[in-house]
Amino acid sequence: MKINLKNTCFLLASTLLFNNLSADALEVVYPKAPNTEMSATSTFFIGNTKPGSRLTINDKEVKVYENGSFVEVVQLKDGFNRIKIDSQNETEHDILTYIIKKVPKNNLMKQEPQTENFPENEYIYASTIKNNVPLRTEPNENAQRITNLNSDIMLLLNGKKGGYYRVALSPTLNAWVKAENVVNYSTINGQMLASASDVTLTEDKLYYYVKTPLSFKTPYKITETDNGLTLEIFNIKEHLGETKTFKQTGDIKSLVVNMLSTDSVSTYFIELNNQLWGYNVYYEDNTLVLKIRKTPNIDPQNPLKDITITIDAGHGGEDYGAIGPTGVKEKEINLDIAQKLQKILEAKGAKVVMTRTDDSSVELYKRPKIAQESDSLIMISLHANALADGANPYEKHGTSVYYYNKESKDLAQTIKETMLKELQTQDDGTYNCSFVLTRPTMPLSVLVEVAYMIHPDEYSLLLDEQFREKAANSIEKAIEAYLLKSLKTLTITQQ
Ligand SMILES: [Zn+2]
Repeated sequence: MKINLKNTCFLLASTLLFNNLSADALEVVYPKAPNTEMSATSTFFIGNTKPGSRLTINDKEVKVYENGSFVEVVQLKDGFNRIKIDSQNETEHDILTYIIKKVPKNNLMKQEPQTENFPENEYIYASTIKNNVPLRTEPNENAQRITNLNSDIMLLLNGKKGGYYRVALSPTLNAWVKAENVVNYSTINGQMLASASDVTLTEDKLYYYVKTPLSFKTPYKITETDNGLTLEIFNIKEHLGETKTFKQTGDIKSLVVNMLSTDSVSTYFIELNNQLWGYNVYYEDNTLVLKIRKTPNIDPQNPLKDITITIDAGHGGEDYGAIGPTGVKEKEINLDIAQKLQKILEAKGAKVVMTRTDDSSVELYKRPKIAQESDSLIMISLHANALADGANPYEKHGTSVYYYNKESKDLAQTIKETMLKELQTQDDGTYNCSFVLTRPTMPLSVLVEVAYMIHPDEYSLLLDEQFREKAANSIEKAIEAYLLKSLKTLTITQQ
């Protein structure tokens, strides 16, 4: 994981417009303020001056690119750093002075909170207050997610540490939930176990549904296996000796529902004939629903025909994303590539859903929701990259693609490989990363960082209409190749 390097898309201010590429006067677009504090050992100065000027930063000559861009890494010592940027040509002489204070990372003095164990004979319950509440392996934001829960799910709490409660999922499995994500505490005399009634497997045009009616909403966990899914439902009343096996249908090779619960966990094993195309777990009233995407109908002659794809142009509105040396904002580049990709995909018969079609701001969590509500098979989020302080934009650059769930990995790799071939950019990797736009288990979700806004050559490419067209084309090509590859591996096609 390269979360510290990858990043992210800063919020920087600029007054320049997309087509107004170079101003005459010296301008620094990053760091954004002439007086600033940071803890990294280096930062970079990104900006522009009149093309042809001689530029120095602390008396060291810095290359000025054809369009006036410059990018320079500056090392920082502890305390105050005075940085003089000097630009000179026949007519003008501009000097800007930046004072950057390097401060120590402030995690040194933080004391680790104590774990408090709740008394064993006390059963304290609380319920989740919103959707997408993560239960994690450790009581901190960066720990791995064990499961994501929707609202109103009853959790048994058995301890506390800092701002987190410890949740008992089974006698052998604990998880941690942020205290602010749960409410309605009640102490109950003894453990509450949910009783389950008959499990059903149904289907419609696009999905299979495995439904389990329960007496109340209890936590669950879903795991992707090599050939399907495993669903565990916690705090379930013992149904000794009950195992139900469903007969093979379409993509479902086998569904075994195991109620042999000796530890209050009920486990479902789902084996698939074909690859996993996406799934969701949620409650409908007190019925737990596992929804599994069916294999789409892919026409080998015309693989994109009737395939629904959501294109997400990253950022928008007040959220600019990264900003290039001459002031062009990432949100504008993303939207342009997204609209080009939309045209190409629609020409091939795909149904395209856009999360934004203009410079409006779209809430981050709304974007995957748009994709799910439109029953999209694939969601592509488009971005152009930047780095955090401490990294060197001349070393780390190129094209990268991010995914989170196993079922999206192959798509991510196909897109990156195709883009590298078509665009001849540097390989910046395919990464497993937990982002809002990569985490959905449905649709297949990938985030593409086409190139870097803060690398002068790549920035020039991103400003080039032909390059953006090529980038859109290469992504379309990759999706088509991915669908054809998937078609070849099908063992049983849909009826
Ligand atoms: Zn971005």
